[in-house]
Amino acid sequence: MAQFDSTTDPKLKAFFDIPADSHFPIQNLPFGIFRPGAKRSARVGVAIGDYVLDLSVLDNHGFFDGPNLRGQDVFDERYLNEFMDLGKEARIEARQVISRVLSGEDDRLKNDADLRKRALIPMSEAVMELPVQIGDYTDFYSSREHATNVGTMFRGKDNALQPNWLHIPVGYHGRSSSVVVSGTDLHRPMGQTKADDADKPSFGPSRLVDFELEMGFFVSGGNDLGSTLSMKDVEDHIWGLALVNDWSARDIQKWEYVPLGPFLAKNFGTSISPWIVTPEALKPFRAEGPKQTNPEVLDYLKPERPDLTYDINLEVMLRGENMDKPHKICTSNFKYLYWSMAQQLVHHSITGCNMRTGDLLASGTISGPTEDSYGSMLELSWRGSKPLKFPNGEERKFLQDGDSVILTGWAQGDGYRVGFGNCEGKVLPVREG
Ligand code: CA
Repeated sequence: MAQFDSTTDPKLKAFFDIPADSHFPIQNLPFGIFRPGAKRSARVGVAIGDYVLDLSVLDNHGFFDGPNLRGQDVFDERYLNEFMDLGKEARIEARQVISRVLSGEDDRLKNDADLRKRALIPMSEAVMELPVQIGDYTDFYSSREHATNVGTMFRGKDNALQPNWLHIPVGYHGRSSSVVVSGTDLHRPMGQTKADDADKPSFGPSRLVDFELEMGFFVSGGNDLGSTLSMKDVEDHIWGLALVNDWSARDIQKWEYVPLGPFLAKNFGTSISPWIVTPEALKPFRAEGPKQTNPEVLDYLKPERPDLTYDINLEVMLRGENMDKPHKICTSNFKYLYWSMAQQLVHHSITGCNMRTGDLLASGTISGPTEDSYGSMLELSWRGSKPLKFPNGEERKFLQDGDSVILTGWAQGDGYRVGFGNCEGKVLPVREG
């Protein structure tokens, strides 16, 4: 029987005020890597309201004395990988310690002004870093609506979905070296493109830079080379989730993608949100994804339970250089995805491919059923035929230099939100030299 998890009790409150619309109430407790100031070393933190709780300070004071964390020394680290490698038991143990400390049930932090000053850093002073040393990065293509939209644009309505799509969680091996944390700006890429009416390709700046609204998850534990993961216990290897923007150069993509799929169109940058939200925090928001009955999936991908996804509201905002504020251009939801994270991870390993702690698996663009829920400029502007209009009179078909794209996401609880914060990046002009 499922044990009651006190860390997600809606009635639980921190011993200091947290606004009701904060993404980081005591029920969330997402993990990240931060510096308490630009010149100080990186360490593990937890977002709580407008603060970051420094776990290395708590660890130095002996707070983490349970069987999975005692003596492990995993919080004074530049990446989360060592902590992640301890598996879900250590993550749950850490959550329980932190929850008791922040609620005041364990009053050692609450009653110690000096410790509070050292352990609770205003978020405005914290410098967020890439949280995970990412080993391999794989990007899936798991939204039926997105795959149908793109397929319709490029092959027509009758051939929109390829014959394999409803049987296989389609994906490709991406590039981990250019995954960056939110706040990192990226230059417009140069590349080879070919216009439909040109007789040969040319080289120059991409003219069709786009974002893709995605989420991703980090693997912990994994499997040995030659062994496989199964639907039975694969969720134990999903350590936590983040927002992902898979920046894309559509003109480069169009010319290069046959026959092996995306390559340089996707490798100039992928942004992730700095806070990793755990399966424990998301448990109250479990939801059923689309039915997979027509056709039925093969046995190795059959879910053990129906609710393998989460109800997570997603939004995208765009702010051009001459706009006074960001404007919402997309409203979607994680639960629209056809293939679940569990199925993606099982499928990835089914050949005996070894998945490792720190691997990032992203969902693919998360488009919904309506035109305002499409997760890319390609779909929102329908390949440039329906430009988006903004209040200052500007229009966009794709992204211009100086445009910032802000992804955000949250699950709505009863009186609280389990949020992901923002995943933000700006398109800079082509780099000189
Ligand atoms: Ca993608």
